[in-house]
Amino acid sequence: MNVHAPHALPTVAATEAAVAGGGSFPVRRIYCVGRNYLDHIREMKEADERDPPFFFQKPRDALVLDGARVPYPPFTSDFQFEVELVVALGRGGRDVAVEAANSLIWGYAVGIDLTRRDRQRDARDLRLPWEVGKSFDASAPCGPIAQVRDPAHFEHCAITLAVNGVERQRGDIGQMIWNIPEVIAQLSKQVTLEAGDLIYTGTPAGVGPVVPGDLITAHIDGLPSLTITITRPEA
Ligand code: MN
Repeated sequence: MNVHAPHALPTVAATEAAVAGGGSFPVRRIYCVGRNYLDHIREMKEADERDPPFFFQKPRDALVLDGARVPYPPFTSDFQFEVELVVALGRGGRDVAVEAANSLIWGYAVGIDLTRRDRQRDARDLRLPWEVGKSFDASAPCGPIAQVRDPAHFEHCAITLAVNGVERQRGDIGQMIWNIPEVIAQLSKQVTLEAGDLIYTGTPAGVGPVVPGDLITAHIDGLPSLTITITRPEA
């Protein structure tokens, strides 16, 4: 093959998250943890509480930034929010030890794991993949990534989400079943992690549906907040 042959298409656009205070963070992959807070497992009434958390992915270009207008997606009538702490990796690794895992972290952000809950439940009932419920256009809002020097801050801190100013989710990062170093260590047993990977670390209780016009605001102590607006479906 002629290496100087023209590309068949223009280069696919890179995905970049925002960095708090300015700049951008190139995103490689988006991983998510399922079932990482016991009170959310209980509200979902769908799993044995002793089942361990697990991982799934969203497509990289599902990332949307703070202030985004997110059209109500097709193929659902139960579109829901899940506020999550996002870990942004500045280094990669395989089989990372729990004790070394924090050294891979470049920064942290507030994220929302947008979910087609009806399709997620279908997948459970029909024993099909979760993908259609979790991995779709604009399903990965991510606030500005902050470089936090002290990982201990994220052992315990408040995580909340409000819809139209009314608080709907409130939890504490310390409630995670797998804490952040354990999440990184576990994931690194399954895939090779690289700089640019984002990991959404699971949601506490209080998840629920939204409709066009809703304003969603998510907070984690010590991080820039994340606000998105749900708009009418795209024509
Ligand atoms: Mn989630």
